[in-house]
Amino acid sequence: MTVRTRFAPSPTGYLHIGGARTALFSWLFARRHGGQFVLRIEDTDLERSSAESVNAILEGMAWLGLDYDEGPFYQTQRFERYAEVIQQLLDGGHAYRCYCSRERLEKLREQQMADKHKPRYDGHCRHGAEPPSPDAPFVIRFRNPESGEVAFDDLVRGHIRFDNSELDDLVIARSDGTPTYNLTVVVDDSDMRISHVIRGDDHINNTPRQINILKALDLDVPIYAHTPMILGSDGKRLSKRHGAVSVIQYRDDGYLPEALLNYLVRLGWSHGDQELFAVDEMIQLFDLDAVNRAASVFNPDKLRWLSQQHIIRTAPEHLARHLAQQLGRRGIDPTDGPDLLEVVAAQQERATTLVEMADISECFYRDFDAFDEQAAKKHLRPVAREPLQKVRQGLAAVTDWRPEKVYEPVQAVASELDVKMGKVAQPLRVAITGRAASPSIDVTLYLAGQDACLRRIDRALEYIAQRAAQGSDHG
Ligand code: GLU
Repeated sequence: MTVRTRFAPSPTGYLHIGGARTALFSWLFARRHGGQFVLRIEDTDLERSSAESVNAILEGMAWLGLDYDEGPFYQTQRFERYAEVIQQLLDGGHAYRCYCSRERLEKLREQQMADKHKPRYDGHCRHGAEPPSPDAPFVIRFRNPESGEVAFDDLVRGHIRFDNSELDDLVIARSDGTPTYNLTVVVDDSDMRISHVIRGDDHINNTPRQINILKALDLDVPIYAHTPMILGSDGKRLSKRHGAVSVIQYRDDGYLPEALLNYLVRLGWSHGDQELFAVDEMIQLFDLDAVNRAASVFNPDKLRWLSQQHIIRTAPEHLARHLAQQLGRRGIDPTDGPDLLEVVAAQQERATTLVEMADISECFYRDFDAFDEQAAKKHLRPVAREPLQKVRQGLAAVTDWRPEKVYEPVQAVASELDVKMGKVAQPLRVAITGRAASPSIDVTLYLAGQDACLRRIDRALEYIAQRAAQGSDHG
């Protein structure tokens, strides 16, 4: 069988963590089996759908690298096809016009609730109803089998069965003629030859209805896999409250797409106790029978850990591309400074996210606004004046600005003043980067460049002088 999966988002918001996880599972399954992955935009709810949401979803998928082989198909462009199938169901006696008024349905519902029954349509028009007036509005309902059961073997949840008596005759076309979700999904999954429907288990109650419609149309029933819910740390369904923002927010917060994919794949799927997966590895190993039945819990700390692990393991060229983006967002053109690959090599093990990496690398491209307060307090004291002045002289004389060469004056000053290296390097580091931590001092000086180093040492000396003048220092 050719595996064909789909991701079928409703464009009513951005691509969120849950949607992205569903997309990822469908994508991985298709890729693993050499199949096709189809993108379908379920935009029939005209009021709630928007072009911005479609764009946000496409942008999110592109950033994650979830490429599709077909689509995006838009349901709003397929109304004719749905009308055709609705007619086919009417002609075959599998659907009927229902003239029940809103008031009648509301009353029915109230009565059923009062009787402690599950609210459901009572089949009033099922056996043929006269229109109350010639142009009376009507919906079209699917004639669900009254008896028997509908069962399927879910690849995640196992055997699932429903009694037909539990299912009522659902509306497949609204009074304005537009088709409803269960109808469009059935038509599309069939027309698009979807072999495996992988989706969130909030759809599990729709599945028996969809199977019944497929059967009424004499169409093949796909294989289903319903993935578990994602919960926040408080056990409630994941939502904005938990910081479960759009996938694009994670890009802006400096996560590598591969790290987020790794995080998402582990939300509900496991392979032994392995935590780290490269994308190709996920493709090779992913399988639906290893998807958990139980809900998974979103854990931001784990995402950060994975982020760091991926940054450490990612090829510098790839990191450089993402870091360039982060720097660009801050108005820095990374070609106006040291080679980005050298910066990445120096910072790769020093940052949890690309935003952090940009934070600690900005100083190699432009002067920072202010010293880190703690760092300045501790290291830019009058005792640092002499070492800084002497190092400045030495650095000014360097003609071949390479790490080995810039290290020499630093070392020379330490031995001349007979102090530990740190007494020279730490004030120097704060002077050059504004912070107490940076790559090794030779690399830090090298990356900042000669002009910036001299300029910033002067600035640090000025700072020390001012501080001494204010008498706020006793060092
Ligand atoms: N459009 C539906 C949703 O966004 C998904 C439908 C499906 O996967 O069958 O929840």
